Amino acid sequence: MVDRVLVTLDGAVRDADAPLLFADDIGVLRGDGVFETVLVRSGKACAIEHHLGRLRHSAQALDLPEPELARWREAVETAAKEWGSEREGVLRMVLTRGRDSEMPGVKDSVTSGDLAAAVPVPTAYVLVLPVGARVAKARAEGIKVVSLARGISIDLAQAAPWQLLGAKTLSYATNMAALRFAQRMGADDVIFTSNENRVLEGPRSTVVIARDKQLLTPPAKNGVLPGVTQRALYAEAERAGWECGYKSLFTADLLTCDSVWLLSSITLAARVNSLDGLRMSAPDNAEEIIELVDRGIERAGSVRDW
Ligand code: PLP
Repeated sequence: MVDRVLVTLDGAVRDADAPLLFADDIGVLRGDGVFETVLVRSGKACAIEHHLGRLRHSAQALDLPEPELARWREAVETAAKEWGSEREGVLRMVLTRGRDSEMPGVKDSVTSGDLAAAVPVPTAYVLVLPVGARVAKARAEGIKVVSLARGISIDLAQAAPWQLLGAKTLSYATNMAALRFAQRMGADDVIFTSNENRVLEGPRSTVVIARDKQLLTPPAKNGVLPGVTQRALYAEAERAGWECGYKSLFTADLLTCDSVWLLSSITLAARVNSLDGLRMSAPDNAEEIIELVDRGIERAGSVRDW
């Protein structure tokens, strides 16, 4: 059974243990690029059209060349097939601005006036790796969460679009630092809060709260990444008669609701079982919410509406 699959955008299945990137790739030098993380289940990439739509949106935000979605779709399909249907996998689509030495102003051809040749070729590939051990535990038992200040206002996304808050960029160092900080505090994950004490998101997840038969999540304009899993849950929950909405949430809302969930493409639904040291018991409908996410992801399969 393979434990790594690498496919480049020309459709070639590469040796995943052989070097691929150049040392001057701007994705590495500056984190200047975008990515998607997608669950492979039963040999298929879940909710792939949503992910392709968000990849396109992120690329636009960074002024990257328009991703060729048909080629991405094919590369993803090849990678998922190579991975097989026996177990789940973590599929990443990675798109960087390309090599620094090919940037206008760096490449010789620019000085010779050949501007067309100066456009760098973006680096683009699909990588599949095994799902980490923490995922099964988070799905089954839930997670301990601490709230941490993100140091931003909910106005920032609109006031400063160059902050790229709604794009899934490769610059995840602070997100990972927050997770390590949480681990040192004995927690599994983080909910970021804004300067106004509003709920934002997790470092790699969307926050959704449930109250009676209502689901709420902060709107993208507050500076959070629109979540594929949350969107899939909403579509399915609405079908099942739930009321689903986008609303600015205060941190106090996390304590007065029935349950708090961190949703993400790989873990899917992780219920917060402790928040800042306060135990949060499971509501009666916890299983229903988990099933709605599962069904939502299945149904989102090839829906193109990002
Ligand atoms: N917010 C952030 C910052 C994330 O990194 C992620 C997941 O990658 C999410 C939210 C959840 O998005 P999705 O459900 O598409 O995985």
